[in-house]
Amino acid sequence: MFGKRKNTGTANWQDEQTRFKVIFDSLEDGVILIDAEQTIQLINPAAATICGWKIDEATGVSVTAVVKLVTNKGEPIAADANPFEKLFKDGQNLHDEQLFLLSRDNKQLSISFSLSPLVSGEQTPSAAVAIIRDVSQRRAQEQQRADFISTASHEMRTPVAAIEGYLALALNDKVSTVDERARGYLEKAHSSTQHLGKLFQDLLTSAKAEDGRLVSHPGVIEIGSYLEQVTSDLRFAAEKKGLAVDFSVGNNSIVNKRKAMTEKIVKPLYYVYADPDRLREVITNLFDNAVKYTDEGKITIGLTGDNQVVQCSVSDTGPGIPADDLPHLFQKFYRVDNSTTRTIGGTGLGLFICKKIIELYNGRIWVESELGKGSSFYINLPRLTNQQATDLQQRSETATVLQPVEPLDQELKT
Ligand code: ADP
Repeated sequence: MFGKRKNTGTANWQDEQTRFKVIFDSLEDGVILIDAEQTIQLINPAAATICGWKIDEATGVSVTAVVKLVTNKGEPIAADANPFEKLFKDGQNLHDEQLFLLSRDNKQLSISFSLSPLVSGEQTPSAAVAIIRDVSQRRAQEQQRADFISTASHEMRTPVAAIEGYLALALNDKVSTVDERARGYLEKAHSSTQHLGKLFQDLLTSAKAEDGRLVSHPGVIEIGSYLEQVTSDLRFAAEKKGLAVDFSVGNNSIVNKRKAMTEKIVKPLYYVYADPDRLREVITNLFDNAVKYTDEGKITIGLTGDNQVVQCSVSDTGPGIPADDLPHLFQKFYRVDNSTTRTIGGTGLGLFICKKIIELYNGRIWVESELGKGSSFYINLPRLTNQQATDLQQRSETATVLQPVEPLDQELKT
């Protein structure tokens, strides 16, 4: 870093101020020191360049005039969301990788931004440090990559669907005659094509999930009856493999119908606000995994909750997941590397997509598992009170009368 600065002349390297200035000026990240009046006390060259100001012009000026934080549409962020206000009002610090800044020459930059009180622990800090990094180039590259994946997987889905259709015709006794050996080859080709189709579909969905283009039409869902319906739609796949399916609410297994009939069980109403089609994708994926990875025993779909959250779960009596793999399971393309996953097809994208969907509704998804004992996947979603559910339902009914409902997104139909 100091290679080009041989001719330091009379600079006194023992002097703390000189050392600080050299480091401060050569930092690649923008650093700004702000006082309690939200005025810039110090600004380094990197920060000045990002904001499009000269150092001497910016010094002494209100930080909000220099660091203009805007929404992704270039509009100024709301006053109550202003991080400088928040920090000096109640000491709240901030780290955000996805903010936007409008420079003095009206260029919109993607920035990574963090703001911390200079002395932590104070209720109302007397000074703060903002660190700004221009990540516009990285964002543009990420966007290009995501666009490429989206376009490529979209374009490839069509021919793959055609190949799959023709292979299905070739395997259909009513329209084709093939000998036994050819049938074996065609079956393998058919299942590989199905896998490829699923991979393209998952790639498309995960690219959309990553750049916030996942279509969602949220509404009020009563999870009890909703899950019961989803379970009855899914149970066939499990029973075909000889696995039992149980649906349990709270601690009462309502599979035990006789008990339910003789004792009056009052089922609580669990309302959440989510898109029922998206939520079905999540439950179906967890259920399909449970069926895929479990050889014998049962799959339990559970529902419980308290005043704040509704908790759904899908548990199985399968092989379980090694502890080392658990923290990585929701990452893109992550598959546990063992003999089971090598023989069972999968894309490693299902749980990543599930996580993105659940996060759309401010929920949380996680897994608990013990080798040899099975796995349980849990979803927590914020619970609506009965009153909130009724109000939201009424509001959406009024909106539907005033405004026709948008057609269901194509992607949900495919
Ligand atoms: P895949 O298409 O591979 O199933 P997922 O993202 O849905 O992708 O799951 C990631 C990995 O997590 C799987 O490859 C598997 O190793 C592991 N996994 C998921 N669900 C289960 C389960 N119920 N039992 C055991 N392992 C599981």
